[in-house]
Amino acid sequence: MVVTELESDRPAGRPGFKVLASIARDGAREVPPDLATCSDCLAELFDPADRRYRYPFINCTNCGPRATIIAELPYDRCQTTMAAFPLCEHCAAEYADPGDRRFHAEPVACPACGPRLAWVPSAPAGGASPTAQDDEALRHAVAAIAGGQIVAVKGIGGYQLVCDATNTQTVQRLRERKARPDKPLAVMVPDVAAARRLAWVSTDEERLLASVAAPIVLLTERPGPDALPSCVHPDTDKVGLFLPHTPLHHLLLHDLARPLVVTSGNRSDEPIAIDDVDAFARLGGIADSALTHDRRIRARYDDSVARVIGRRPALVRRARGYAPEPIALPDRPATPLLAAGAQLKHTFALADHDRAILSPHIGDLSDHDTFSAFEATLEHLSKLVAISPDAVAYDLHPAYLSTQYATRWPSDRRVPVQHHHAHVASCAAEHGITEPFLGVAYDGLGWGDDGTLWGGELLVADLSGYRRAGRFGTAPLPGGEAAIRRPARMALGYLFGTEPLGAPDVDPDLVRLFTGRLADREVATVRRMITRGFNSPRASSAGRLFDAVSSILGIRDDATYEGQAAIALETAAGGAPAAELPWRLTRSGDVWVYDPKPTLAALLEAASNGEPARQLAAAFHATVVAVTVALCVETAKDTGLRTVCLSGGVFQNELLTAALTSGLRGEGFFVYRNERVPTNDGGISYGQAAVAAARMKGA
Ligand SMILES: [Zn+2]
Ligand SMILES: [Zn+2]
Repeated sequence: MVVTELESDRPAGRPGFKVLASIARDGAREVPPDLATCSDCLAELFDPADRRYRYPFINCTNCGPRATIIAELPYDRCQTTMAAFPLCEHCAAEYADPGDRRFHAEPVACPACGPRLAWVPSAPAGGASPTAQDDEALRHAVAAIAGGQIVAVKGIGGYQLVCDATNTQTVQRLRERKARPDKPLAVMVPDVAAARRLAWVSTDEERLLASVAAPIVLLTERPGPDALPSCVHPDTDKVGLFLPHTPLHHLLLHDLARPLVVTSGNRSDEPIAIDDVDAFARLGGIADSALTHDRRIRARYDDSVARVIGRRPALVRRARGYAPEPIALPDRPATPLLAAGAQLKHTFALADHDRAILSPHIGDLSDHDTFSAFEATLEHLSKLVAISPDAVAYDLHPAYLSTQYATRWPSDRRVPVQHHHAHVASCAAEHGITEPFLGVAYDGLGWGDDGTLWGGELLVADLSGYRRAGRFGTAPLPGGEAAIRRPARMALGYLFGTEPLGAPDVDPDLVRLFTGRLADREVATVRRMITRGFNSPRASSAGRLFDAVSSILGIRDDATYEGQAAIALETAAGGAPAAELPWRLTRSGDVWVYDPKPTLAALLEAASNGEPARQLAAAFHATVVAVTVALCVETAKDTGLRTVCLSGGVFQNELLTAALTSGLRGEGFFVYRNERVPTNDGGISYGQAAVAAARMKGA
């Protein structure tokens, strides 16, 4: 096969340009990501004189589905799910004309020959039949959404649940049915002007919103008469907005002329539904009706989520529009690799030559359906990109299903990679840093190399190895996983059990200020668990400390999703300027340990003196910044290292990340953050691939 051109930086309309899923460098195969509707197609979509007027599947060489419809490479229509739609005379002529915008546009279609919409008025489990097609189907959907229904809409990479974002009752009903009580819901708006009515949009954010990948962009809400109801994004002033990325979404937004909740078609953390039968079965209890079509979705691609931090875009969830575009690896793996990823926000990576190909976001792997989605995506993607791995990189956590999957491989083909090393390596690798660096890995929990739980770590690292140089003091997680869902328990863990256990405890009178507002029974039970060490594994977690502080300040005692209490704490802090609270670093062997007890005591004392939670939340952020800068400064004295890589889910906290970056720069450090891969566990697979490649090179 001959390569004519490789799509690299997404050309604007160039007649005769052929986008190929190409055989690129080193014979490597690449699968092009999906592209949002281009301006030429958009103009035709709303031009009554055009033969594709209001046709929901309009596309051209510069836009439309790619990765979601490709069954085999090379990328030719006959190898996509568009093979089921023979071209009409008109479309065939455009497809064959080198002067036409649709020359070799593989998914080209029109109302005469292409996919058709269908309206299914109710979506009972086990089958429903459409009652209307085409524009009539669309009109039914528009009326249903306007009337307060939740409609399952077959999107480009999976089903989505769509409803009126301004209708509080409907949004609440969606939350109940989807078993998602609090986690923010994404909202689609027709254009950038509409986004500006709901949120503050900088030029960098505007560029991201309007990019061909069209991700959900996390923005700061703009108070005013147009503000979305708080049930769309409780706990946070951040709202996830995105623009229509398919003609169907453009039509819905045009006809409804209001912001719409557009969220993944799944229950909680299950994989997004792509198959019609599966969608009706699983979404039947959530959606009132469905707007579907007859173009099959071959591969599952959820909507991507991104934000701008410090003028740089950073991906929070990497899927539609980005995956499976390769990301460079600094070291070439000796053999083709699979990096099995972590557990939550799961992705995997395939690597060969100088590239890693990350799967789209898959979900929480502990769910059985998600694990099946992992296996199916792995099989499909490795076939498409022609990588059949000879070795597997994986996390140390014995309970991760990705680890259990990897440990079925022969031991001489396995490369274990510590969780926080993978985090900081993911940051270093995407910036091409191959020299030693200081890695700050702050997250919820990850398995340490000593068999304990880590999560507030300073590593002296390079891509192939690391040494633990600093960490947060450990506290017990009373009830294990249960402590994640109940930050109040985590607070008790810190107040009753933070190491070093010999050092002065938090003054019991201050502790009573907190325990006094909890049920006596809970306090007694948790205290007993901690003193007896019963089901209370210890963790050196930064994320759990944020949870605990959120509860201590009375901001959130419970969490229905990971990070909720910390998000509420960040939101409470707002932009309030604050001085740091007391803190203490101790030395244990050659590891610096942050003892948070003085910080917690100061929080309790200030709260009892009536200082507002908002101020104290800001002071806590300032304290974590000061502690982290001190850890880096101390470690730099021994090592001479000036490069710092920040990674881990805690760095989704914009306030912390921005303040820490400027604090470290003030001390002369060069600071790097994840941009192309998520800083949360969605980026772990890329970090594992970078570490395994570096180790193989040295072996
Ligand atoms: Zn187009
Ligand atoms: Zn046609």
